[in-house]
Amino acid sequence: MVCEHVKEIKSGVKRSGDGCVECLRDGTRWVHLRECLVCGHVGCCDSSIGRHATKHFHTSGHPVMRSIEPGESWRWCYVDEAVV
Ligand SMILES: [Zn+2]
Ligand SMILES: [Zn+2]
Ligand SMILES: [Zn+2]
Repeated sequence: MVCEHVKEIKSGVKRSGDGCVECLRDGTRWVHLRECLVCGHVGCCDSSIGRHATKHFHTSGHPVMRSIEPGESWRWCYVDEAVV
């Protein structure tokens, strides 16, 4: 499968922080963290209450994120719904 969206990934983007932006703001807990590879937004996974990484995709349109859990390096394209 060819994912066209990896072209939108920016190099050298600064990560927004060490935790989910919205969870830190709202005081909620996350399970796992995902980083948007277009803008560096850190959000929480779909197992978390906020699902902020997915919400970030819906509000921003940024299609590709990666896991920033220790030992994990996979990337996910929301548009293709596939590991890319
Ligand atoms: Zn894609
Ligand atoms: Zn969150
Ligand atoms: Zn983003």
